[in-house]
Amino acid sequence: MRYQVVTIFPEIIESGTRLGLVGKAITAGVVELECMSPRRFTTDKHQSVDDTPYGGGSGMVMSAPPLAAAMELLDEQSQARALPLAHRVLLTPQGVRFDQASARRLAALPALMLICGRYEGIDARVHALVHEELSLGDFVLNGGEVAALAVIEATARLLPGVLGNSGSLSEESHSAGLLEYPQYTRPREFRGQEVPAILLSGNHAAIERWRRAQSLQRTRTERPDLFAKLQLSKADQALLAAAEQEALVAAADAERAERKS
Ligand code: SAM
Repeated sequence: MRYQVVTIFPEIIESGTRLGLVGKAITAGVVELECMSPRRFTTDKHQSVDDTPYGGGSGMVMSAPPLAAAMELLDEQSQARALPLAHRVLLTPQGVRFDQASARRLAALPALMLICGRYEGIDARVHALVHEELSLGDFVLNGGEVAALAVIEATARLLPGVLGNSGSLSEESHSAGLLEYPQYTRPREFRGQEVPAILLSGNHAAIERWRRAQSLQRTRTERPDLFAKLQLSKADQALLAAAEQEALVAAADAERAERKS
């Protein structure tokens, strides 16, 4: 995967990708990252990439020509290396919400160009130059860089050779429309909270069932919107019913114990 980022702040992208698994993947050559600043394509002494909005109003608008020139130079560089042109994604709060399904779709592409806005936004004519527009969520950032980093991290970790243990991908939250089960590591007891006994049992089939039930229950309580989209198998329905029954029994036991004390 080649990532090309159009940004006036390449330092944000470079520092956000230097460490961790993405940093290692770049060093190992599994992914390639290049930043291109639109400031390179300005002609005035201040290297201005913004201007006042037509029709008036507050703030400045990012001009189309330097952004377009940055995208085009990146394309020319790809062509010179006989590599496929990157799929162009504009980061904007007005875009389609980025999610795990978009991460999977984008991770399958050979090259991704992420275009970061700044100021009050970008000239509307830039929208015609991109393939799609993505938003990180319903909030407004100062610039597209943090959103671009999120897209890079979410897609890069899906690429072969980036995660040490690719098995963990299939169990993660959102991989199959479910939230992940709770995880524990040493110590066995932490501030009065014990690790669930089942995880210490060594019974792998029982652990699998417990994790699946926890995943289903968590999704139902924390993300009812996701739960509503699930097609539960008979086995999942039975697991949930059994987990509910166990929770009722545990609650009744706890109440009895409290009354006694
Ligand atoms: N005035 C714009 C609007 O209301 O849509 C917001 C401009 S914002 C201050 C500047 C830049 O930050 C945007 O052009 C975009 O690149 C980026 N940005 C802000 N919020 C974002 C979000 N939720 N997702 C992706 N990019 C975002």
